[in-house]
Amino acid sequence: MRYGVVGFSGRMGREVIEVFSERGHELVLKVDLEQEQYLGKPDVIVDFSNPSALKRTVKLCEENSAGLVIGTTGLNEKDLEIIKDLSKKVPVVQSFNFSIGIQIMLRIVSEISRILEDWDVEIVEIHHRFKKDAPSGTALLLKKALNKDVPIHSLRIGGVPGDHTVNFANLGEILSISHRAISRRTFALGALKAAEFILRKEPGFYEFPKIVFGGV
Ligand code: NAD
Repeated sequence: MRYGVVGFSGRMGREVIEVFSERGHELVLKVDLEQEQYLGKPDVIVDFSNPSALKRTVKLCEENSAGLVIGTTGLNEKDLEIIKDLSKKVPVVQSFNFSIGIQIMLRIVSEISRILEDWDVEIVEIHHRFKKDAPSGTALLLKKALNKDVPIHSLRIGGVPGDHTVNFANLGEILSISHRAISRRTFALGALKAAEFILRKEPGFYEFPKIVFGGV
């Protein structure tokens, strides 16, 4: 695969390049805030950057007929609409979390929320001090899976790649479901799975959970 990376010099961009190179994929486009290096036409563009890069990423996908795998968080509804529109022209995977464990957690908390209807529910998420958005995209995914308007508590401390806990409580007990990313590599591996999946696929919006669990 010939691929491009938007945000190539960032924490996630560097992980993506390492994981994709190990699989023998060829890096042909590097974009970040300061620079753009074009060495050839990419089949897929991977974006882990910032919402401010979205317009440029979409243009690059259109110009190169390249698929898009986007993990950038902090996107608003309008941004998500722009990504959906792009998926009419090229294959797209957008997810606020590319780890497998979180995809399992989303299913579990959705089921618990359905069963424990009248329990208190609150989400706690912890990320490194450099993270720009709060709450995290993953916390918003968890809230959606719970199908309830629940409080989210965001901590920005140290170098934490990403911890998420959903706490369910009544007067006598607490049930906590937690996920901890211990390396950013896990997100890059998920992005690799998504990129290899959409290679030579028809235009469309492909859901990451379906790529992981099947059913596309
Ligand atoms: P970072 O700050 O280390 O890197 C950001 C990169 O984006 C830099 O290379 C920067 O130059 C570039 N960038 C910023 N604005 C840009 C613009 N307007 N145009 C082009 N490039 C631009 O951040 P990070 O920790 O690598 O995280 C990047 C994004 O990925 C964040 O939104 C983060 O929340 C998200 N993320 C998603 C997942 C997931 O699984 N979906 C996992 C981890 C991080």
